[in-house]
Amino acid sequence: MAEALKAADFNTSESTGEVPVIEKIMHELKFRKLEVAHIQTITPHMIRMVVKGDDLEGFTSLSPDDHVKLFLKKGEETYKRDYTPRYYNADKKELTLDFVVHEGGPATEFALTAKPGDILEMGGPKGSRRISGNIKNWILIGDETALPAIGRRIEELSGDETATSIVLIPDPQDQQIFESKAQHEHYWIHRPVSQSDRFADVTQTLNLIEFMPNTFFWIAGESSMVKGVKAYLRDERGVSKDWIKASGYWKMGEIND
Ligand SMILES: Cc1cc2nc3c(=O)[nH]c(=O)nc-3n(C[C@H](O)[C@H](O)[C@H](O)COP(=O)(O)OP(=O)(O)OC[C@H]3O[C@@H](n4cnc5c(N)ncnc54)[C@H](O)[C@@H]3O)c2cc1C
Repeated sequence: MAEALKAADFNTSESTGEVPVIEKIMHELKFRKLEVAHIQTITPHMIRMVVKGDDLEGFTSLSPDDHVKLFLKKGEETYKRDYTPRYYNADKKELTLDFVVHEGGPATEFALTAKPGDILEMGGPKGSRRISGNIKNWILIGDETALPAIGRRIEELSGDETATSIVLIPDPQDQQIFESKAQHEHYWIHRPVSQSDRFADVTQTLNLIEFMPNTFFWIAGESSMVKGVKAYLRDERGVSKDWIKASGYWKMGEIND
């Protein structure tokens, strides 16, 4: 294991140009009633679902880390859950969502039991947070819930950018392949889901990576893991907060309502 690099060794202080801007672009908030078109298990812990319908007219998702809100009915209750628009085909009015299969919750249950023709209700995205600026490299860190956003980001990069992804997954077979114009490198960390709040494996991997100037760090996944990685970047590697976007996507032991 490489020795931990200190803040003074590698940071983004040499980055040139203005700091990145996270621009918030609002969209018309629309409630959509869609129909399940196809469902496929793409890896042992990921179900891909394509939903379609005329209600997708005008669907806009400008950033890979946008989300839609699913409204899932179970008995008298309606549960709301956030999911990433993985792909959108405007010609066919088809939206693809990737669902992590975990021990349980209304969204996972829906993905596991849905069949073509079933109805899925959703709202959004109500806005997109577009990250722009003089970014040359992306370091994308997340767990399996962030894979849809990480995959989409890598696929949407231009050939002038590079990306490194560090993704925590339960099983080597959960790895995915992304096509991109950008040069990209993947680190896959296999850990049991019961250890989703651990961040040491990520920081050990980051210790091996030299941070180039103009690198933007995007982190998402289990909240404690995200917090731990962000603190490491700030405190031990001296990364400015302007070059980090960190989001907790779920919290171990807590329902995401
Ligand atoms: C902006 C955003 C985008 C997201 N995009 C996606 C996406 O594209 N695909 C995706 O799968 N998820 C995504 N998530 C995460 C997803 O919303 C949560 O995992 C959600 O809690 C799942 O709902 P559920 O009904 O299955 O479980 P819940 O009813 O919310 O939770 C039930 C139990 O399961 C636990 N739990 C929740 N999620 C997981 C998990 N992944 N692994 C293990 N245990 C878990 C909870 O701690 C709780 O104890 C996103 C979240 C956000 C905020």
